Amino acid sequence: MLASLESASVLGIDASPVHIEVDLCFGLPRFQLVGLPDTSVKESRDRVHAAIRNSGYEFPQHRIVINMAPADVRKAGASYDLPIALGVLAASGVVTTRDIRDVVIVGELALDGTIHPARGVLPIAVTARRMSAAALLLPGGNLSEAAVVEGLRLLPVRTLTEAVDVLNQPREEWPDPPARPSPAPAGEHAVDLADLRGQAFARRALEVAAAGGHNLLMIGPPGAGKTMLARRLPTILPPLLFDEALEATAIHSVAGLIPVGAGLLADRPFRAPHHTISDAALVGGGSQPRPGEVSLAHHGVLFLDEMPEFERRVLDAMRQPLEEGRITVSRAARSVVFPARFMLIAAMNPCPCGYHGSATRACRCTPLHIARYRSRISGPLRDRIDLIVEIEPVPISALSSSDPAAEPSAAVRARVAAARERQASRRALNARLPARTLGRACALGAVSRAMLDTAAERLHLSARAYHRVLRVARTIADLDGSEIVTELHVGEALQYRFVE
Ligand SMILES: [Zn+2]
Repeated sequence: MLASLESASVLGIDASPVHIEVDLCFGLPRFQLVGLPDTSVKESRDRVHAAIRNSGYEFPQHRIVINMAPADVRKAGASYDLPIALGVLAASGVVTTRDIRDVVIVGELALDGTIHPARGVLPIAVTARRMSAAALLLPGGNLSEAAVVEGLRLLPVRTLTEAVDVLNQPREEWPDPPARPSPAPAGEHAVDLADLRGQAFARRALEVAAAGGHNLLMIGPPGAGKTMLARRLPTILPPLLFDEALEATAIHSVAGLIPVGAGLLADRPFRAPHHTISDAALVGGGSQPRPGEVSLAHHGVLFLDEMPEFERRVLDAMRQPLEEGRITVSRAARSVVFPARFMLIAAMNPCPCGYHGSATRACRCTPLHIARYRSRISGPLRDRIDLIVEIEPVPISALSSSDPAAEPSAAVRARVAAARERQASRRALNARLPARTLGRACALGAVSRAMLDTAAERLHLSARAYHRVLRVARTIADLDGSEIVTELHVGEALQYRFVE
């Protein structure tokens, strides 16, 4: 007997349909998979066999041929266990429903018939909806992420027996599609800018960075509060739009990082990988390409503390995402593109010992050591960082003083949102304005132009650095509610060019 059913294959953050046919015929008992299955699919043979027997069903004593189509779609991962097992049971008459071809099935089996959550169920649900599938039969642990897709009937199951029972049920008894959950209200952050005393200059730089989507490098000694500042950046960014949340959630779904019960990502991601991270973990990789930290930070913030301690190769791997907002992961003859548009916040000490320029402690580093330390951040990477600011430790006296409470994140976020609104007509955040459009977008008056030209000459600004100052000045003008970029805006932008 022949049974056929549908599943889906995940590539990047998209899924495409995979059609599975199971044929039982007389002959020596054999279990044969065709259609270019990956080794992990072959392993599923043993799990399917054990799960069927341990669920109390008889494993058919036939020759079993399983064909997965299209043949040129690479099939990897364990999520075909459940459709293959149900196909075998349909071909042998345990699943009695004649036609289950319009149900998309995904799930990994344990040997006892329990169904484990699968990676990439959100993109699979999107594909099932696009295919007008009658339902998606899925692991119960993936229910909340699949529920993000509107108008799709979901059949969550925890065991193989439950899956058989659901398919044998009359369709009228299937549950209705759940209402699409709305993203949890954003702005409920565990940290807030109000927790930070002092740091007026750094707070302002953070606000400017957030308003224009600029990358930011903070240079300061240990304990100056660089990490505390970076962690508060997501609290002043506007909440995720629905489509942004959907895309970011799909990336986390493919990475298998959605906690059970969680649906759409509510807050902008904040990722802070350690400096020992490999390039594959940072930008993505693996034989079944998985998104890296740059993609997990999509629509959010990537924080690299101790930036010069990262391997040069790892830092250089970030150039494509910083330039294009996406990353191509190539393995063998295939390549997968993951979105990777994030704000980069980096931090570093001023020198290897950390105390260069400190008023309280002496630096033990030689000029050569300092130069070598700083050169670990290559020119092309520096070119992508619009703001470079020096962070000084807050004096103890300021910490204990009875200053009025610092401004909370919500107030800053409102200004950031207003500034971003002004950028909407330019169709890009200021940080991403192409150089050719800067003349129009950042029109300077005679005084501000003369000021910038003088500064460029005095500071030996390259053309790229000049453009960066213009973009930042444009953002400061937007925060100021000003159509034109004045000398005040240019003057402030020049302060965010800490170089020594
Ligand atoms: Zn030093």
